[in-house]
Amino acid sequence: MNATPAPARVTVNGRSYAWPRGPVVVVCVDGCEPDYLTQAIAAGRTPFLASLRDRGTCLTADSVVPSFTNPNNLSIVTGVPPAVHGICGNYFWDRDAGAEVMMNDPKYLRAPTLLAALADAGAKVAVVTAKDKLRALLGHRLSGICFSSEKAAEATKATHGIDDVLALVGLPVPSVYSAALSEFVFAAGVKLLERERPDVTYLSTTDYVQHKAAPGIAAANDFCAMMDGYLARLDALGATVVVTADHGMNAKTDAFGRPNVLYLQDLLDHAYGAGTTRVILPITDPYVVHHGALGSFATVYVSSPVTAADAGARIAALPGIEEVLAREDACARFELPPDRVGDLVVVAERLSVLGTSRERHDLSGLDVPLRSHGGISEQQVPLIANRRANTLPPGRRWRNFDAFDLALNHLS
Ligand SMILES: [Zn+2]
Repeated sequence: MNATPAPARVTVNGRSYAWPRGPVVVVCVDGCEPDYLTQAIAAGRTPFLASLRDRGTCLTADSVVPSFTNPNNLSIVTGVPPAVHGICGNYFWDRDAGAEVMMNDPKYLRAPTLLAALADAGAKVAVVTAKDKLRALLGHRLSGICFSSEKAAEATKATHGIDDVLALVGLPVPSVYSAALSEFVFAAGVKLLERERPDVTYLSTTDYVQHKAAPGIAAANDFCAMMDGYLARLDALGATVVVTADHGMNAKTDAFGRPNVLYLQDLLDHAYGAGTTRVILPITDPYVVHHGALGSFATVYVSSPVTAADAGARIAALPGIEEVLAREDACARFELPPDRVGDLVVVAERLSVLGTSRERHDLSGLDVPLRSHGGISEQQVPLIANRRANTLPPGRRWRNFDAFDLALNHLS
């Protein structure tokens, strides 16, 4: 029993948060382009979300670019951009190690999470994520509950703060490629709120459905309807609920549904010779079946005699390119850590994605036209609450990583 009274506020990474006055649930809906909700509401599939028009708050916020899962989830739980917390992709070129490595180890995290700070100050905190790849980062130094749908059966009191998750949730362990993986997250959130009554809960889903189905398509509306039911239950249990997304999602195809891919490594090798440049795609991770590791963001390392200026000009002239920025300009604009970004940052347009070499991308798993993210065109996401906001600063540029600020500091 913690006898210490709760503090009035907690300050983390230079931002101050009011102590939760009741249970707070922040939901990161992976790949939730705002239009998914618009279409589902218009189709009458999401009565709870529709009801928030009168009694809640609806903002449009900017995610972090690269508009990928890990940089944005870590921004949401730290309240700061990757320049501060360090996680700017799933994958990067570790210059110290001289190797391309996954960035999902907490050793790469440079800032504490708000979740851990709240727990240290006496709050009961619970985190549920769809894919296990995020669990170690989200749960870094967290004294509380933290598990994934993917490995729910393996959760133990000692390492995850909870055991027997399957009995609690009442659903089987879902396939990692399924809508059920996200449904498990919502169902667990509801059951945890009923049984454990956490002060703060963070739920993070997976974008399996969004990679396959455009807004308004049956599978997308079914997903939103499923989510709506669980959000309504969280609301009925008295929680303050804030829903945002890590990034949007767009078709990356031509009118025939064929992927618009610029294979940057092939193009640069052709221009300069193999081994003179290195194209890194931070979307790369162990789960690439639904997007073939193709996204709209890449970073490029060049070595002498190739110059960043020459390679940048060459890339900028290609069709489908939205921006080519030198490292310092990209890091200033997108708030990224310079030591984990190449000499150039390349962002593709809405309908295009960037690849390395053609033979390094297995597109055989794409059974529907490619939809992906990573660019500026997937930066805008919903930021929605089930309470009215009474003190919103006029003209503020909201970010998805203001979700906890909105939940704790601005809602009535
Ligand atoms: Zn995502």
